[in-house]
Amino acid sequence: MEKDSTYYLDKFKDVMAPTYGPQIVVDRGEGSRLWDIEGKEYMDLAGGIAVLGVGHCHPKVVETLKEQAGKLWHVSNIFANKPAIDFADKLTDATFAEQIFLSNSGAEANEAALKLARRYAVDNFNEEKCEIITFHNSFHGRTLFTVTVGGQEKYRSGFGPTPGGITYAEFNNLEDVKQKISEKTCAVIMEPIQGEGGVINATDEFAQGVRELCDQHQALLIFDEVQTGFGRTGSLYAYQQMGVTPDILTSAKALGAGFPIGAMLTTKKIAASFVVGTHGSTYGGNPLGTAVAGTVLDLINTPEVLEGVQKRRMIIEEFFAELNQEEEVFGALRGKGLLTGIPLLGAWKGKAREFLVAGLKEGVMILVAGPDVIRMAPSLIIPEEDLKEALKRFKRAIKKVLA
Ligand SMILES: *Cc1c(COP(=O)(O)O)cnc(C)c1O
Repeated sequence: MEKDSTYYLDKFKDVMAPTYGPQIVVDRGEGSRLWDIEGKEYMDLAGGIAVLGVGHCHPKVVETLKEQAGKLWHVSNIFANKPAIDFADKLTDATFAEQIFLSNSGAEANEAALKLARRYAVDNFNEEKCEIITFHNSFHGRTLFTVTVGGQEKYRSGFGPTPGGITYAEFNNLEDVKQKISEKTCAVIMEPIQGEGGVINATDEFAQGVRELCDQHQALLIFDEVQTGFGRTGSLYAYQQMGVTPDILTSAKALGAGFPIGAMLTTKKIAASFVVGTHGSTYGGNPLGTAVAGTVLDLINTPEVLEGVQKRRMIIEEFFAELNQEEEVFGALRGKGLLTGIPLLGAWKGKAREFLVAGLKEGVMILVAGPDVIRMAPSLIIPEEDLKEALKRFKRAIKKVLA
């Protein structure tokens, strides 16, 4: 029997736990294009869920990985390695942070942030100061702690008992935070733009208000920038455009351009609570991941790339504005930079997935953010011509759904 997509998708159902339901089997990627195992081409506006900030197989990233792969893969954290220290040096230079903790994923970076916030409160205040305020609709990962801190019931139902001391407030409602925050609060955690929850921007006023409330109650402000970070919104991190500096920031997704790596960034004063033995990871900070992340940081953190993000967003904005002149299907674009959310209007609400599936047929990959929102998170350096070609394909998909 020939091993085509049907074979592999059947095999997938047979041997993989049923947590996912993929429709295609991808073989190869280059820049903003992918090919499935039958050779069909797709333009990639999904970016591996905001992971591929510099596209697939960027030559400089491949070169870094190959070079490091021939030199040193792993030593454990009992010993140090150069790529990790160099990366931490560069990342702290580029941000508010003075020290970082390295992990393998976004959930683990958040797990570290939440544990650190509690430990810091115990060290500097008292054991009662352990409550965490988070927001409805938020997403922070799939470990039991992060899924509980996440504000979407469906992701944690059936996994109890869950960790306690977590309070949910309404996003962009400062009054609600004011009512819920107290001297018992050790941290408030928020996404500058809720990604999985529907691409919903925190207003600058809200973020600034939360910052003030945290200061008044000596609580730490944690920004989960796993999705918004590493250039996605047009600055290295979203906080840099919001007039707010968090105490702890978490980063992953685009950090490794597909190589699994996460980071928790903070100040020396706060990091001091993570003394030897309090927290750790076998793979976190391994030379392969940190060498790659160092190269990705060099590629992304330049004025040309960051300004290019805005230019590309305009192309997407114009595309949907033009489509709307024919029929009002799409609401105003949400998100920032190349984290774009396009809400569906009226009768099209709830049908985001239909657009995704139709896109695949036309050779373009997009994302959804819940049932009502189309999401696009392409490479930050997607050539403008490629972006236009991808949107042209998506237009054909839209016409088919609407017909
Ligand atoms: C994707 C995501 C996470 C989880 O990251 P993983 O690497 O899948 O663990 C956490 N927070 C936000 C905001 C995310 O978008």
